Formats: sequence, C-alpha cells, structure tokens
Amino acid sequence: MNTDLKQVREDAIKQIQDAKNSKELEAIRIRLLGRNGLLNQLFAEMRNIAAADRKQFGANLNQLKTILEKLINDQSVSLKTTINPEGKTLKLQTLTSTSLPKLGHLHPITQTERKINALFQNLGFSIYDGPEIETDEFCFQRLNVPSDHPARDMQDTIYIREPDVLLRTHTSSIEARLLSQEKPPFRAAFPGRVYRNEKVTKSNHFIFHQYQGVAVDKDISLKDLIGVFDLLFKNLYGDDVEVRYRCKYYPEVEPGLGLDLRCFNCHGDGCSVCKGAGWIEMGGAGIIHPHLLQFASIDPRQWRGFAFGLGLDRWVMAKFNIKDIRTLLGGNLAYKPNQL
Ligand SMILES: [Zn+2]
Repeated sequence: MNTDLKQVREDAIKQIQDAKNSKELEAIRIRLLGRNGLLNQLFAEMRNIAAADRKQFGANLNQLKTILEKLINDQSVSLKTTINPEGKTLKLQTLTSTSLPKLGHLHPITQTERKINALFQNLGFSIYDGPEIETDEFCFQRLNVPSDHPARDMQDTIYIREPDVLLRTHTSSIEARLLSQEKPPFRAAFPGRVYRNEKVTKSNHFIFHQYQGVAVDKDISLKDLIGVFDLLFKNLYGDDVEVRYRCKYYPEVEPGLGLDLRCFNCHGDGCSVCKGAGWIEMGGAGIIHPHLLQFASIDPRQWRGFAFGLGLDRWVMAKFNIKDIRTLLGGNLAYKPNQL
C-alpha cells in the first residue's frame, strides 16, 4: 500500500476538485473517508510503520483527514450554488466573473401606478397616501354616505370592529381626509389597496386597487376633467385609444361620469373580459358634490373641484393584456402576462 501521504494528498485533492456534481463528490468522499475508505486503510497500515516513525505518521494522517473533510465540504457548497442552464455545470466562480442575468421586475400594478403618478405630478398633482384601516366617518359619512344610505349596499364592507372600524372600501377615504386638511386650491392623487367582501372571480377580487384624485380650484368644470382623462388614456394606451364618457350616479359627485375603454381583448365584439359589453368600465368621476366641500368647511360658492376614482387593476390588465384579475395577486413566478 502506498503510504506516501504527500502523494495520497495530491491525488485526493485532484479528485475532489474534479468532481462535477454532488453525486460524484459523495462517491469520492466514501472512497476516501468512508468506513472502508483510503484513510481508514492507512490508519490500519500504521502497525506496519517503523515504531520510530509511527507517531509522526499518525499525526500527518489525522491532519490529512481534516484537510480532506474541509475540502469536500467546501466543494459540496460550491456545487450546490452552481446553476445549470444548458446541462453544463458552471461553478460559482465562473458566474461571478461574467455579468449575471437580470432577475425580476416591478409588479405590473406598481409599474402602472408609477406611470400614472408621473403623469399627474406633471399636471401639478401631489401624491398622497392614507390608512388602510379606516373609520366609518372617513370611509362613508364624510363622503355623503350616512349610515342609512342605500349606496352602502354597493360596498360589502369588511369590519375590524363593527360599526366604526373597517378596511377601507375605496380610496375616497383619503379624499375625505385630504379635504379636511388642505386649503384650496389643491390637486392631489392617491393610489391604494382597498378591500370588499366580494366573491373572487376572473374579474373581481376582495383585495383590489384604486387610483383616485381630486382637484379643487376656482373655475373647474367637466371640460378639465375630460381633458385630463383624454391625456391619461392616450398616455397609457396610445393615441388611437377609444374612450367613452357617460352619465353615471356616484354619491360623492354631481354630475357623475363613467369612464369606459373599448375592450382590449375583443375590441368591441363582446367577450368574457368585458361581459359582452364591448366596453370596460375603468372608473368613475365627476364634479365634487357641494356637500363634500361643506363637510370640509370649503365654501362651494367659491370653490369647485373634480374627483375621480379608477379601478387600477383594470388599467393594469388593459395595459398588460391580463385577462384574469386573480393572477395579479397570485404567486406563480412562471406567469408571463403577455403570453396568455
Ligand atoms: Zn371584450
């Protein structure tokens, strides 16, 4: 048996370094350090070593064992951090010397939210945030919706503590806070997550996102509101976007408008995404109801304003051609929104 430990060490190190995967490395470990492995055979060989050299040989052998154990351990970690793109084994050292592929991107909701933020900031709006856990006062009462108002039936509310503390059902609650804090003239936009007790389907979720805004000034009219929305629709979907404004009731505004976009999926023929209508309702808007200004101690004879609320998830879905709202909050990393 070869008892030249220097030679044994060099051979062993070469084997460990050449291991291409964890399985090969394990076979090498068993061959070197296993119960019947090379090192234990060498320990058994000690009895044949001259008595004068035996102690030193034992010490060297123990040292070799420690070195090999550490090398195998290091190599094992290195092999596990290796990625294997085309069946080839690339060691970590190889990867760090070249540029790594860029992984991940901002969520489509964040991307769209930031794009809309930028547009409104250019129009002189400030971006606001507010609490997701709200009071009944700011979520309903200050928005012209007292406790017996039928409009409450349209928003099945999730309560934290009935009847006062709830998860906000819309970002209008931020508007109510804003109107009570700011002195006109002001322009503000406020995106946020909202909650309603809705059945989760392809087009509805109990958690969703709104993008809301308000502008209060001296001579604001529907003309300003429509001008802003023409700009926003074109900015997000291109100059040939087809938009429809129609009269619609919302308790916070008078008059109120529904904002519709030609369905991005069927282009007007009718499909499951637009529920056969050919149009998708992207949000509501209107001239702020004088009561809301009065609640906020703003004189409605002196000031007027417009307010809007967008279903942000729908804007994201139309922009990224996403046909199922559930995927926006799903965790499937393999999901590619443009490859549906
Ligand atoms: Zn459609």
